[in-house]
Amino acid sequence: MVSTLPVSLEDIRAAAGRIAGRVIGTPMVQSASLGELVGVPVHLKLEHHQTTGSFKLRGATNAVLSLSPAERSRGVVAASTGNHGRALAYAAKAEGAVATICMSRLVPENKVLEIRRLGADVRIVGLSQDEAQQEVDRLVREEGLVMVPPFDHPDVVAGQGTLGLEIIDALPAAAIVLVPLSGGGLAAGVAASVKGISPKTKVIGLTMEKGAAMKASLDAGQPVQVDEMPSLADSLGGGIGLDNRVTFAMCRELLDEVILLTEAEIAAGMRHAYAAERQIVEGAGAVGIAALLAGKINGGGPIVAILSGANVDMEQHRRVISATQPLDGEEGR
Ligand SMILES: *Cc1c(COP(=O)(O)O)cnc(C)c1O
Repeated sequence: MVSTLPVSLEDIRAAAGRIAGRVIGTPMVQSASLGELVGVPVHLKLEHHQTTGSFKLRGATNAVLSLSPAERSRGVVAASTGNHGRALAYAAKAEGAVATICMSRLVPENKVLEIRRLGADVRIVGLSQDEAQQEVDRLVREEGLVMVPPFDHPDVVAGQGTLGLEIIDALPAAAIVLVPLSGGGLAAGVAASVKGISPKTKVIGLTMEKGAAMKASLDAGQPVQVDEMPSLADSLGGGIGLDNRVTFAMCRELLDEVILLTEAEIAAGMRHAYAAERQIVEGAGAVGIAALLAGKINGGGPIVAILSGANVDMEQHRRVISATQPLDGEEGR
């Protein structure tokens, strides 16, 4: 069954060999406080300690290393201002390739500088993400650049799947793995590797209530569009693509469940990560802890929660962790 999907356990093992030494094998630690709370052992996979601050480096590095020499010399391109943009900039530079990252004029200066600092050629075009994507399409068409999308690509999914290999290696008895879910590259890859080795382990996708595109698509039986709304988990925003080729089918086949979280629950997850675990995580990275705190995860242990990213604006983080009550509406910005 698994072998008919676009990315297999073998693809993920090959990716692990390819990216070894170029990404960090991140630590996994047990959480005494969460274990006590839910009554089974809880382990935290500290992937927010990854270089560039998120797991996205795994997929981007695997995609860059999988290019032919001719493709690599033409360079890669994407339209992400977030963790994928950072990861692709870093991965390309590490291999001596040029990454072009397209962004709209509305993107804040600090994000532009950050991605430039990582070595990317930043193109500022238009006033929306759509216009930035149109520039990507033009660069692919007219200049032969190779687009590396943030999730819907077999090499990207295989790279993200290496995280699952590390989890099952460290904890073969894992009963449940909690995975932050947006476009589904991480969830598809982790589910393929975890279930490829340990079919009984449950893999649960977690995302915010507001604008959960993969959840809406799974419910509808096909990719659908949802309105994007601000969230503390800003890295989980965006659609899955109406022409989704890889991650929708894999998430439909492999995920046991998708659980939604409110903004207040996500904020509580960030607060717990900081106060009890001494970890600074962005909203998207806190959804596993959030679901455990909210009592939304049942079914035995050990449980592994992936802390997927650290790239939160520190002023926003300070506001979230110092709020003793849920912020008014826990607005995202
Ligand atoms: C991209 C991202 C996600 C979601 O990954 P998908 O592959 O799009 O599902 C989760 N957490 C962080 C920190 C991210 O950057």
